Amino acid sequence: MNPFYNPVFISKILKSYFFDVNRLERFSDKKLKKYRDKQFRKIVKFAYTVPLYHDKYKEAGVHPDGITGISDIKKLPMISKDDIKKYYPDGIISSTISKEKLIEISTSGTTGKKLSIFVDIFDVVMGLFGYLRTLREYGVNWRKDRITIIGDFAPHTAESGYIHRGLLARSSFLFKNIQWLNTNDEPEKVIKEMDRFRPVFIGGYTGMLGHLSLLKEKGLGKNVSPKYIASTGSVLDDSLKKFIEKTFNAHVFEAYGATESGPIAFQCKNGNFHVMSDLVFLEFMKNDKPVDSREAGNLIVTKLYGKGTPIIRYNAVNDIVAPFYEKCNCGLSGSLLEKIYGRDDLSLLLTGGRVLLPSAISNIYSRVLYELKTNKVKDTKIIQHSLKKIEIQIVIDEKLRNKGASIEEIFSLIKNGFQEKVGSDVEIFMKEVRKLDKRVPRIVSKVDRDDFEVNQYL
Ligand SMILES: [Zn+2]
Repeated sequence: MNPFYNPVFISKILKSYFFDVNRLERFSDKKLKKYRDKQFRKIVKFAYTVPLYHDKYKEAGVHPDGITGISDIKKLPMISKDDIKKYYPDGIISSTISKEKLIEISTSGTTGKKLSIFVDIFDVVMGLFGYLRTLREYGVNWRKDRITIIGDFAPHTAESGYIHRGLLARSSFLFKNIQWLNTNDEPEKVIKEMDRFRPVFIGGYTGMLGHLSLLKEKGLGKNVSPKYIASTGSVLDDSLKKFIEKTFNAHVFEAYGATESGPIAFQCKNGNFHVMSDLVFLEFMKNDKPVDSREAGNLIVTKLYGKGTPIIRYNAVNDIVAPFYEKCNCGLSGSLLEKIYGRDDLSLLLTGGRVLLPSAISNIYSRVLYELKTNKVKDTKIIQHSLKKIEIQIVIDEKLRNKGASIEEIFSLIKNGFQEKVGSDVEIFMKEVRKLDKRVPRIVSKVDRDDFEVNQYL
């Protein structure tokens, strides 16, 4: 039965809509804490019916009865990507839930390591509510205002699972004002569709938004003038943000989430990152110790809802994030993040314990867009041969080869950009290639990461 026609389910959703979406506005920190402790106890208890967690907890000698709230979280062992792979598929779902009710989704696999987990339809709705919450913050009404979402709708992505197989398959009538576009399409096609639709709000991946800005600047998409643009998927550096804001004359903010956990945080109007503290609990570790406020660490995620694969103390979102242990004056409860640096496994390790993070790398590439005003870099791959040698492969868009900035200019901008970040003792060499395999990782490091002690993030 389609759950959207089930009255119990519908009332659950409506209840969520009225109570969950604005929970961070309604709840005081004290009330939020109580709510989270309750959710946490529930989810740990549920996880105990999932073979993966059952085995792990038994082995660690912990039982759900001994967990009274989030303050007990350190009693629980961490869960890795390998744990999930080892127990996939039947060992990562609860014996109390029938598999037919669940939707399988996979992480995007930018590093070539794909991971599949299960979510239920209520997860899908909560994921969407996380998004609606960000819209509310900006005064956008999803039932009245036109919204364009440019998602990754390749067959096995989380978005296809969430949106196509989950939500739209069951309830397209609820979302008439939302235009769903595919980030795998050519930017020209995407902007044409938006030009017809005239969205007030655009949500999309950082890279696609950069390309769209360049097209807009060149005169395409005359009718595309959103008030707000949400960037997601990778780090948005300040200059690229300003470029997008200027070309669209819109306010740009970041929405942050992960496939495994759903929505994690979003920027309020003050520009602060608010954790969706009623949906997730975050820990930040560096060399196995918790970090201080504003210090970058590895993100550990606990998801506080859902009947699919539980995500409790999951250490493999692989993002480097700095917490911010202060309050924002916008009135939302919950905790804050200072900065999201991007994927740890997409970072480059350098001499002296230095780590070049994706935020710094995207910084270099986005200059090609907003300084050289060209999107002829069609694809790129970075291969780190050693701590002192980095190879950068570039694919040039043949249609654009002889237009605008020259290949030499582009290569020198990228090369110098890297050189400035990593210092002169690292050799950077550039190479044009005709094509890159879609399935191979875009950043490959041959440096052994195991015994690397982190000193400094760049
Ligand atoms: Zn705020």
